[in-house]
Amino acid sequence: MTNALVVLSGGQDSTTCLYWALNRFGRRQVAAVTFDYGQRHRIELDCAAHVAMLAEVPHTLLPIDTFAALGGNALTDARLAVRPGVDARTQLPNTFVPGRNLIFLTFAAALAYQRCIHHLVTGVAQTDFSGYPDCRQPTIQALEQAIRLGMDYDLTIHAPLMFESKADTVRMARELGALPALAWTHTCYNGQQPPCGVCPACELRAKGFAEAGIPDPLVERF
Ligand code: ZN
Repeated sequence: MTNALVVLSGGQDSTTCLYWALNRFGRRQVAAVTFDYGQRHRIELDCAAHVAMLAEVPHTLLPIDTFAALGGNALTDARLAVRPGVDARTQLPNTFVPGRNLIFLTFAAALAYQRCIHHLVTGVAQTDFSGYPDCRQPTIQALEQAIRLGMDYDLTIHAPLMFESKADTVRMARELGALPALAWTHTCYNGQQPPCGVCPACELRAKGFAEAGIPDPLVERF
């Protein structure tokens, strides 16, 4: 029986969380869900599927096309480039997709409910350089409470990376045996494989590996 559902984006953090869940809940107890929300970089979906295959967990792909229809951010709107710095009004990078994690976790909770799964695992981190408000601990706690009430269901949301630095996350990935899977993850905001190395996401990833003193298996693959 499955005990935990991991929201798997195909990136470094959610992949690390998948291995955290395997360690915490045991093999054959974990499933993964990925959302196709019209992201520009379709490679994320391939990466998520590949990581799930490597980890030998069942993988569900769910479509949500509303974010692309809303537009206004660089991750779903192909007309917008990823800009450095923050928007003057929102004080957030233009890669912020409003409501994304709230919606993802709510849909994931609905899937968990249907499958009698009581634990959700997400890779969000308060320490993330972008400062996305839906990655913060109070948001996750409030959402967990809203889901418990709104679904009348005993559900716990785990965010094991919430207070970890990127370097700590890399060390955790090594301890969990996740490094081979990280070779197949996607981080680059420019959607490039091999990664461009200069966008904010690539820079943050490289800094984390450098500080941990561990070579990035994704970079080594090319
Ligand atoms: Zn990049």
